[in-house]
Amino acid sequence: MRFVRLDDWFALLYRNPNATLASAEDLIASMDAAGIQRSVLCGFPWRDPGLCAEHNAYMAAVTAESGGRLAWLAAVSPVATGAANMASVAFAAGAAGIGELNADAQGFDLRSARDLAETVEACVAHDRPVMFHVSEPVGHAYPGKGTSTPDRLLAFLLAFPEARVVAAHWGGGLPFYELMPEVAVAARRVTYDSAASTYLYRFEVFRRVIDLAGPDRVMFATDFPVLRQDRFLRRALAVPMDDAERGAVLSGTAARVYGLDAGPAPAPVDSGGRS
Ligand SMILES: [Zn+2]
Repeated sequence: MRFVRLDDWFALLYRNPNATLASAEDLIASMDAAGIQRSVLCGFPWRDPGLCAEHNAYMAAVTAESGGRLAWLAAVSPVATGAANMASVAFAAGAAGIGELNADAQGFDLRSARDLAETVEACVAHDRPVMFHVSEPVGHAYPGKGTSTPDRLLAFLLAFPEARVVAAHWGGGLPFYELMPEVAVAARRVTYDSAASTYLYRFEVFRRVIDLAGPDRVMFATDFPVLRQDRFLRRALAVPMDDAERGAVLSGTAARVYGLDAGPAPAPVDSGGRS
């Protein structure tokens, strides 16, 4: 297929004929089946700015047609020429933030302020969050794991203290280091999402990170279509949480961080998207 030829990281993940992709229609059908009212969708971390623009146009269009059920994060290639402009164009088109940015896929280094300055400064100027793929420095290997480990994210946070950050996949374990006071200070503007938990942690990770970072810094995310939303949500709902915690994790935190309207009723918000 065309995109396997155009992007090495996409080829790594999608050369396998069993790999799954989803359209907006697939996502809405999945949300209906799972009882999810709204989702924040993100596309693939393309390295080529033209592919980012194409993907963003699709996400803006399907969001506009979704009757308020979708919001989207823009694909931006941080080291490509014109990254700041790409980000501003996406915000003008309604993007709720930028992400998922992926260092290994897109050829940037989280420790390099120069690599990320244009994109992140645009986010700060528009008061929008940036979402990063972050992975564990320990444990099993898997396709797409990459090298965006918590130590590198911490270097980014120290370089960009004004940035609002969503760290995907529980920040590669960064919340556990928040027991160190200086890490907690550096990470205060980070929200953790739960995408791909099934592959990484026992689901009690929800409870642990709520206790470490607070429910206002935890948001439900799946990694749809790699993981099913309905099953993932059922497992998350089985984790002991009080009503306020559940409301934050399933809806309130994402609504606040991504600047979404509160919506008609408390309902799970899923920031899905690929790892
Ligand atoms: Zn990821």
